[in-house]
Amino acid sequence: MSVNGCSSVGIIGAGIQGVCIGLQLLKKNIPTTIFDSKDPGSMASYGNAGHFSPYAVLQLNRPDILYDVPKMLFSSNGPLALKWNYVPKMLPWILGYLKNCNKKSMLHTAKYMHQILNLSMDAYDEVFQEIDTSNLLEKKGIIYIWTNQNLKSRELEIKVRNDLGVKQKILSTKEILDLEPNLRPVFTGGAYYDYAYHARDPYGIVKKIFELFIQRGGKFINENVKSVKQSTNNETLIKTEKKEYKFEKSVIACGAFSKKLTDQLGEKIPLDTERGYHVHFKGMDKLISRPVIFLDRGFGMTPMNQGLRAVGTVEFGGLNNPISKKRIDYIVRCAKELLPQLKEHQDDWLGFRPTLPDFLPVIGPSKNNKNIVYAFGHQHLGWTLGAITGKIVSGIVANEKTNLDLSAYSSSRFG
Ligand SMILES: Cc1cc2nc3c(=O)[nH]c(=O)nc-3n(C[C@H](O)[C@H](O)[C@H](O)COP(=O)(O)OP(=O)(O)OC[C@H]3O[C@@H](n4cnc5c(N)ncnc54)[C@H](O)[C@@H]3O)c2cc1C
Repeated sequence: MSVNGCSSVGIIGAGIQGVCIGLQLLKKNIPTTIFDSKDPGSMASYGNAGHFSPYAVLQLNRPDILYDVPKMLFSSNGPLALKWNYVPKMLPWILGYLKNCNKKSMLHTAKYMHQILNLSMDAYDEVFQEIDTSNLLEKKGIIYIWTNQNLKSRELEIKVRNDLGVKQKILSTKEILDLEPNLRPVFTGGAYYDYAYHARDPYGIVKKIFELFIQRGGKFINENVKSVKQSTNNETLIKTEKKEYKFEKSVIACGAFSKKLTDQLGEKIPLDTERGYHVHFKGMDKLISRPVIFLDRGFGMTPMNQGLRAVGTVEFGGLNNPISKKRIDYIVRCAKELLPQLKEHQDDWLGFRPTLPDFLPVIGPSKNNKNIVYAFGHQHLGWTLGAITGKIVSGIVANEKTNLDLSAYSSSRFG
């Protein structure tokens, strides 16, 4: 017997998307089980920069960036890198990216990212009322800085955000230094989002949401999922290495690892990964009061409980290539350029951003299996979009009506 349009759900993946979806389903009284082969929140949701960035409407499918890509790829000193052994496997993504790197697609992506980003913090505020966020969350805004080298790109970003009604304050070097006096002034200006939050420990926040999910009766199965399929109109089967489980509906929320399962369902979704890195400078988190992102360098620093976390770069190289020492060196160099007092770093970490060629996530039912719902591909903004994805996906599962236009996130856009 279906409760709220659904009697049971299995969610594959306990990253920020999976746990937020799980919590929302329990709120609708839908019995829910989450599967993960690893500790909840221990992949991309663990090591990100922790920015809640509802303003970040513009993504990397932009003609101005495309022009700089070849130069950046051939330099080990830039924010972009490529593992050449992975290029043949990445061709579908690259071709899709080139197709989406024009003004029209850029604005389409910005519009539909804005639709969900705009709701992202209200959705989190509801979650934050239910968990203890002391020492996990700070509300001091986020600063972006830049040099005068790519001012055309900065003007474009400011204009697109203005056109969409995103609140932003443009700052001079002096105003930035008034807020962050320890920064070396190698920049010429910046933008301030004074309403933005950051996590002092993203993993700690996922854990709290996961614990709440368990307290409210959610189940967790610590197994690797080998396959998922729809067997009848009201039954899906999740098969792990040990057992087969039955649910009325299933959700795929495996971040960058989702493609293995969607390929089995006969859909060719060109999901790939933008690899990103972080290091910590222990005990140095007091040097800045809020996250600072240096746009020209494609890197940023966030004050966190583990220390000052320096995060960034985009590396195309798939899920199996080893960590790149050169990328770590690049991040460390960038951090010391802004804060020369930094010394040794710890904790070299590589994470996988799940990214589609048009930089929109995939949220919605599978094309051929309506009882299997997708929730992955949130690229650089998956941390920000966790809570709102939870609300949207739980609404889809429960067959609720929505005022949102969800068509842009459908997997059917890939044919
Ligand atoms: C360096 C870096 C910095 C970032 N900074 C920010 C930021 O500041 N702000 C922001 O909004 N976003 C940021 N992001 C992006 C954000 O972290 C991700 O988009 C988001 O964490 C993705 O969440 P997820 O739940 O989809 O995936 P994940 O957190 O990767 O979770 C997926 C889960 O699925 C599990 N799984 C996979 N396959 C299977 C299987 N077959 N069976 C069982 N379980 C499986 C995995 O073990 C994992 O736990 C950053 C990402 C990186 C890498």
